[in-house]
Amino acid sequence: MIIDGKKESAIIKEEIKKEISALKKKINKTPNLSVILIGDFTPSQIYVKNKEKSAQEVGIGSEIIRYSKDVSEQEVLRKIKELNQDEKISGILVQLPLPNQIDKEKIINAINPSKDVDGFNPVNVGNLASGYKTVVPCTPLGCLILIKKVEKNLAGKHAVIVGRSNLNGKPMAQLLLKENCSVTIVHSKTKDLKAECQRADILVVAAGVANLIKEDWVKKDSIVIDVGINKVGDKIVGDVCYEEVKNKVRAITPVPGGVGPMTIACLLQNTLKCFKGR
Ligand code: NAD
Repeated sequence: MIIDGKKESAIIKEEIKKEISALKKKINKTPNLSVILIGDFTPSQIYVKNKEKSAQEVGIGSEIIRYSKDVSEQEVLRKIKELNQDEKISGILVQLPLPNQIDKEKIINAINPSKDVDGFNPVNVGNLASGYKTVVPCTPLGCLILIKKVEKNLAGKHAVIVGRSNLNGKPMAQLLLKENCSVTIVHSKTKDLKAECQRADILVVAAGVANLIKEDWVKKDSIVIDVGINKVGDKIVGDVCYEEVKNKVRAITPVPGGVGPMTIACLLQNTLKCFKGR
C-alpha cells in the first residue's frame, strides 16, 4: 500500500473548510494565522507561501510578517508580544531556521502557548510528554494520522523512530507511546542502526539523509513513514530507498506526496484548534 498523503491532506482540508464556514455563519468570526519570516532563505520562502495559500483555501486569514536577515531579536520579540495580545490572531508561527543573532529558544518561549500552532513552546511540549491534550507539532501529527489510516490499533507494536529532533523524532515518540506502542528512538550515535530498524513494526524515518534505509533494513509487512526531504541532483528524495523498500513492506509513504502535504494540513488543523481554544 502506498500511503497517499496528498489525498489524506485534501480530506482534512475539506473538513476544516466546512467547519470554518459553519463557524463564520454561527459566530461571524474565523481564525487568523500570523507567520513571521526572517531573511531570504529560499526553502523557507516556499514553505511560508504554501502555508499562506493553504490557509486561504480553507478560510483561515493569513498574514506573512517579513523581516530582513539582520533584524534584531528584540524587534521580533516585540512583534510576538504584539501578536500574543491581538485577540484577532489565533495562531503564531515563526518560520525556522533563524539567523544567528536570534536565539531560537527565546523566540519559541515568547509565543503564547495557546497560539503556538507549531507546538514547539515548552508548555505544549510538556503537555504532550505528560499525555495531556495540547497542540502537537504538525509533522509528527501528520505521520500519526497516516499510520492510523493503515492500522487503527497500534497497541503493542514496536515503533522505531530514526532521528531525535524536537521537531520530529521526540514528539513522534510521545505520540506513539500514547498509542501504546513500545518505542525506540535511534539517531546518529546509535551503534547498530540497521538491527534496530529491522525490529520495527512501524518505522518513522526523520534523519535528513538521502536513501539511508535500505530494503534489508526493514521488516516484512511493516509500516514505513518517510519524513525526510533531500535534494539529490534536481530530484527530491526521502530517507528511505523507496523503490526497493516499497515491495517488501505493508505500507509506505512516498516522497514527495507523503508526509509533506500532511504537515500543512495539520498546521491548519492546529490553527483551528487554537482558535477554538483547543
Ligand atoms: P534534524 O537535523 O534536526 O535531526 C535529524 C536527526 O536525525 C538527528 O536526531 C540525528 O541524530 C539523526 N540522524 C542524522 N543522521 C543520521 C544517521 N546517519 N543515522 C541515524 N540518525 C541520523 O532534522 P529534522 O528537522 O528532524 O528533519 C529531518 C528530515 O525531515 C529532514 O530531511 C527535513 O527536511 C525533513 N522534514 C520534513 C518535513 C515534512 O513535512 N515532510 C517536516 C520537517 C522536516
